[in-house]
Amino acid sequence: MDTHDTFFPAGHAVAVLTTQPLGRTLDYRAPEGGCHSGAFVEVPLGPRRVLGVVWGPAAGDYDPDKLRHVYRVLDAAPMREEMREFLTRVAAYTLTPMPAMLRLATRAPGLGDPPSMRKVYRLGDSIPDRMTDARRRVLAVLEEHEASSFTQRELAEMAGVTASVIKGLAAQGAVVEEDSPRDQPFARLDPALPGKVLSPDQEAAARAISEAVATQRYGTTLLRGVTGSGKTEVYLEAVAAALRAGRQALVLLPEIALTEQFLTRVEERFGAKPAEWHSGATMTERRRIWRMVGQGQAQLVIGARSALFLPFRDLGLIVVDEEHDTSYKQEDGVLYNARDMAVLRASICGAQVVLASATPSLESWTNAETGKYRRLELTSRFGAAVLPRMEAVDMRGEGLPANRWISDPLRRAVDERLERGEQSMLFINRRGYAPVTLCRACGHQIGCDHCDARMVEHRFLARLICHQCGESKPMPEACPSCEVAGKLAPVGPGVERLGEEATALWPGARVATLSSDMYGSARALKAEIAQIAAGAAEIVIGTQLVAKGHNFPNLTLVGVIDADLGLMGSDLRAAERTFQLMRQVAGRAGRAEAPGTALLQTYQPDHPVIRAVLDGDEEGFWKAEAAARQQAGVPPFGRMAGIILSGPDAAQVFDAGNALARRDAPLRAIGAQVFGPAPAPIARVRGRHRVRLLVKAEKSAPLQDALSRWIAQVPMKGEMRLAVDVDPQSFY
Ligand code: ADP
Ligand code: ZN
Repeated sequence: MDTHDTFFPAGHAVAVLTTQPLGRTLDYRAPEGGCHSGAFVEVPLGPRRVLGVVWGPAAGDYDPDKLRHVYRVLDAAPMREEMREFLTRVAAYTLTPMPAMLRLATRAPGLGDPPSMRKVYRLGDSIPDRMTDARRRVLAVLEEHEASSFTQRELAEMAGVTASVIKGLAAQGAVVEEDSPRDQPFARLDPALPGKVLSPDQEAAARAISEAVATQRYGTTLLRGVTGSGKTEVYLEAVAAALRAGRQALVLLPEIALTEQFLTRVEERFGAKPAEWHSGATMTERRRIWRMVGQGQAQLVIGARSALFLPFRDLGLIVVDEEHDTSYKQEDGVLYNARDMAVLRASICGAQVVLASATPSLESWTNAETGKYRRLELTSRFGAAVLPRMEAVDMRGEGLPANRWISDPLRRAVDERLERGEQSMLFINRRGYAPVTLCRACGHQIGCDHCDARMVEHRFLARLICHQCGESKPMPEACPSCEVAGKLAPVGPGVERLGEEATALWPGARVATLSSDMYGSARALKAEIAQIAAGAAEIVIGTQLVAKGHNFPNLTLVGVIDADLGLMGSDLRAAERTFQLMRQVAGRAGRAEAPGTALLQTYQPDHPVIRAVLDGDEEGFWKAEAAARQQAGVPPFGRMAGIILSGPDAAQVFDAGNALARRDAPLRAIGAQVFGPAPAPIARVRGRHRVRLLVKAEKSAPLQDALSRWIAQVPMKGEMRLAVDVDPQSFY
């Protein structure tokens, strides 16, 4: 029961929160028939109509005679009180204006449209008389998504064809046009279907979490276990417990891990597919999920980060899989960390949270140590699989020739795998062909015109690309600086160049290079990964996306080309990230019966992080890392906030930064310190100059309140922007 539900009869003045960037709610008169608090409405704003939510009684400071009427109440489940509280608290935590929060919570089109029929298209039985490229693309899209149907617009967009191509195919029966109701409920999931027979430690963990779910009270569990230890099976039992209690469940995954493989597992467990929320979902599907979640007719949502803002009717469980993954932090727009906000949401609605990881974040590890979270461990891999053997290759003694990156020991290890018919993976965390393009005549390095960043050659796309702003241009013939032709040379390896080296070393082997930018869509990439897992390649070359939760049963060797890469730079989480990434990558090897080996190429085999990875002494690593951070008073033992000021004029940006640094009284009042202004590590992005300040405070200090009073003193003028990043994860 919503205890705060208020009914406003027609004509009563109400406050409406809109999605428009205004500093406050707006007052309107309730429409004919009245409206409830939380109702989704359309209101007039100037000449337009905009989406809003009835937030409460009017503030009363507008001239009551001039109030306009709410245009209409939308046919959608009203926003629940707990959702309003959640949005308000996320806004307060991240210092985000409420309209931006409402936009995040309504990311589906046509929310208020009445239920109706629409024309959809699916694959037919006939073969068209004449096959054109356009027709082939349409059929390929439909074949790829066999179980789905699309509206004409969606299909045309996905296949890159005009509507007439689809009509032509329909006329011949190669695609079938049919009427379908919008917004169908999702098929019921059946928690009573039998799950797998669990191992004793899986069983114990599943029971503990399921009992917690049954209490219908808040709690968070850190579920720790190496990759392949069966965490997914455990949390699917927790999902079953939520469903049995008649409540909904949400499983958050890093976007790239939203695989068909995973959906199939859910289907096997519960007899039907869950709702799938991610950036690749069609608009129609997003709308359907949003509405059905609100009506309680989607029991389980598998989603990326933003699924956390769906209007669940009765959420009983949130799973955050790979909880340490950096993609849970949204890095533009509303800067929130989905893992942390999941805990907040659960605490408001009386739900359980499961944070699952092989290599938890130091934040979660610490919360478990201090007893804020419960900790459950799966200690061994499921079945026969064992953790890979880890070894360093000391690159100081290898003396590789220029432009070669695969050492002799690694080469021999790959040779052995080829002989035995097993897979090898070579890992390098750099997209593109080469990170630097250098002119051998004048020493110039090709940079981006808009950012202080080098352009990265992508040979596959035949372009230079800026990884900051996405700007791209063809590779020039002549040096843009000295104009000498034919002297531009790639420096350093990227994933594509490593692929080239592998092909040259093993001409007879099938080499597959996996990088997010080499496939047109996430779906195409996932399809490729599935084929590789099924044995389509003997050598896999990949960036970090291959480290994320994929199953390669025949993979027994992982070679890390540059284990030192993440240790450079001053990021406070450099050690943690490197440790996690190396463990995750190594965890790809030896998942099935064949034992695996991980070889780490490094120039610093005695570096403490490299040592910790090799020794597999996780507990020791976390303890040492926690002690170092505690000493420095940094997260998770202290609090930080980043402030990025940006604008077209460098001097103006620095002036504003200095003004903020001088007026630090509100920060000093809570014992916080401010550092900077300093040029941000990437001092110019998209032509905007960037200056950074860093605020450090004690863990218990009321940081947000002080921050808002502090930044209010220096209003941004013209094109200047200020962004606050509470709990920053990266420092660019
Ligand atoms: P994690 O999520 O920890 O990486 P998974 O749950 O994906 O581990 O399990 C790894 C593999 O072992 C999967 O293929 C899974 O189907 C299998 N598996 C895990 N637990 C069981 C079980 N109790 N019975 C049968 N197979 C299992
Ligand atoms: Zn750029």
